[in-house]
This record gives sequence, C-alpha cells and structure tokens, in this order.
Amino acid sequence: MHTPKTALVAGAGGFIGSHLVKRLKKEGFWVRGVDLKYPEFSETAADDFVIGDLRDPYFCRSVIDMRFDEVYQLAADMGGAGFVFTGENDADIMHNSALINLNVLDACYKRNVKRIFYSSSACIYPKHNQMDPENPKCAEDSAYPAAPDSEYGWEKLFSERLYLSYHRNYGMEVRIARYHNIFGPEGTWRGGREKAPAAICRKVAMAPDGGEIEIWGDGKQTRSFLYIDECLEGTIKLMRSDFTGPVNIGSEEMVTIDQLAQMIIEISGKKLSIKHVPGPQGVRGRNSDNRLIREKLGWAPSMPLRKGLEITYAWIKEQVEKAKR
Ligand code: NAD
Repeated sequence: MHTPKTALVAGAGGFIGSHLVKRLKKEGFWVRGVDLKYPEFSETAADDFVIGDLRDPYFCRSVIDMRFDEVYQLAADMGGAGFVFTGENDADIMHNSALINLNVLDACYKRNVKRIFYSSSACIYPKHNQMDPENPKCAEDSAYPAAPDSEYGWEKLFSERLYLSYHRNYGMEVRIARYHNIFGPEGTWRGGREKAPAAICRKVAMAPDGGEIEIWGDGKQTRSFLYIDECLEGTIKLMRSDFTGPVNIGSEEMVTIDQLAQMIIEISGKKLSIKHVPGPQGVRGRNSDNRLIREKLGWAPSMPLRKGLEITYAWIKEQVEKAKR
C-alpha cells in the first residue's frame, strides 16, 4: 500500500500556514496543523489539527511525535507596522517567537525529522541600507553587520542563526526563507495586526465614493508585495531543493505606498482621495532582490502586483459587507 508523505505545519491557523496546509493536501500529503487557534476564515484542510502552545516544550514533543518528512515552522507572534513598529509589543514578540523556535527545532532534532523550513523575514535587513526609497539594498549577503529596525527583525535573525547552528552541528536539513510582505485572501484585514495591502483594501472598501482614505506617513515609502500562491510555490521549491538559504522570497515589483493605494482605488472603481497622517512606517524603502533565488532555484516570482490585489480586494470587500450585515 502507498503511504502518503507526512508534513507538520506550525502556525497552521495563520494566514500563510492555512494556505500552505491546503497546498500540501493537494499534493497528497498527510498534514498535521498546530496553532493556538483554528484558521479564522475557512475550515482547515489538515487531517489532524492540534490546538496548543508551542512555547511549551512538552507540547512540542507531543505534537512532533513522528519522523515527519517535512516540517514548516511558521508560528510567530507577529503583525503589520501597527503591531511591530510601535515598540509596545517588543517583549512579547521576542520572548514568544524565540521560545517557539527553540522548542520546535529541538523537538524536530530529537525526532530526527527529515527537513525543517523556517520563515524568516525581510525585516532582518539593516535599517541603514533601506533609507533611500528608490534604492533599498536587500541582497541576502547584506544582512551583516546586522542592524534591523525592529525587535521582530532581531528575533528572526537570532532564529536564522539557531537553525543554521543545528544544521552545522547536528547535520539537520534546514531551509530558511526571508519573506517580503506576503498578501492575499484570508489574511488578517482588521484589528491592528493587518499589513498595508489588507489595511488599504479595507479602507477603500469602506469609504463612500468621492470620500478619502488615510495613509500612514507621506506615502513615498517603497515596498514590494508578494501574492500568497507565489510565496507557497517558492517555499515548497526551496524546501525540496538542496539549498539551505537564507534566501529572499519576495516580489521585485517595487511601488510606493501611494502607488499601492492608487492601484487599489482603481480596482475598486471609486473616486477617492488620499490623506497622509502620522503613523508607524518602518524603513523608507524595501524591495526583494531575487538574484540568489534565481541562481539557486532557477525560479523567481513573476505575478503582477495588480492581479493579486484584484483577488485580495474582492475578498476584503466581501468581508466588509459581511461585517456590515
Ligand atoms: P500569522 O500571524 O497569520 O500566523 C502565525 C500563526 O502563529 C498564528 O496563527 C498564531 O496563532 C500562531 N502562533 C503564535 N504564537 C503561537 C504559539 N505560542 N503556539 C502556537 N501557535 C502560535 O502570520 P503569517 O502572515 O501567516 O506569517 C507566517 C510566518 O511568516 C511568521 O513566522 C511570520 O513572521 C513570517 N513572515 C510573514 C510575512 C508576511 O508578510 N505575512 C513576512 C515575513 C515573514
């Protein structure tokens, strides 16, 4: 009898994790999801879903109770600029995410898990390389000397080093990606942890035609945004490659926040003006540098931002209408 491959997704109740579970199920995997909560917007596709706290080492050992073929570690205490850059959540971010990584990785080592993927972030890159919105520097080898602009970035950098240490000392197969602003349907769109694309889609969907929306900062800060399906494609390609990483998984289509807002306004078909207000912003410029991923995986994301935004806007508009009802 054919036995399916097995995967564990830590953080399977979150945005990327819940989509990843669906993707692995389509590929025929037997999947266990673990999280503090079930996915918010649709039923999990996991065969088995365990609710629990990965900060607890005993809980980690109990859910990593077999030699999984693939473990994806996506669980983290995280959010958008309104959560990460105010400074108010620094202790929680560092303590909670570091504990999760320490425990999950060690439990995987003890169970001799075949491969483990770790989701790091573009937030690890030094602030001084991201001051010029036109020319941000985010090549993988520019990470050191390290100077991330948030404690979230510092924790990610520490954890990258933790995974690399287990790789060096214990021969574990680890794979590390640095995600750049992932977006898409079924992501957080309100409540304070949402990121710019979802927040702007919500503001646009809620605004009356002829009205205005508020944007944090002067709107000239630059970013790139990657649609969820391409994030999953890159994640899985990296996991099954022989390259450890860290490698960027992001889009190279850089836009200003004003351009992002204009695109969403156009998609909505409304006439809206933009009002700039003070708010947390993060670095001035950030864009993915895809030279290394192209070289190592022979692949890089290519979907136009607009296409992903159309799908995401339609989903958020539906959520806004549901919430009104
Ligand atoms: P998310 O917040 O939607 O998902 C993270 C999940 O981890 C949540 O469901 C949360 O409940 C769970 N979690 C938190 N603490 C836990 C604990 N103690 N025990 C068990 N589960 C716990 O975030 P996401 O957008 O899906 O991101 C997934 C990963 O990718 C995170 O590690 C994040 O830092 C990283 N990342 C995401 C982006 C992005 O743009 N979304 C960018 C860079 C890096």
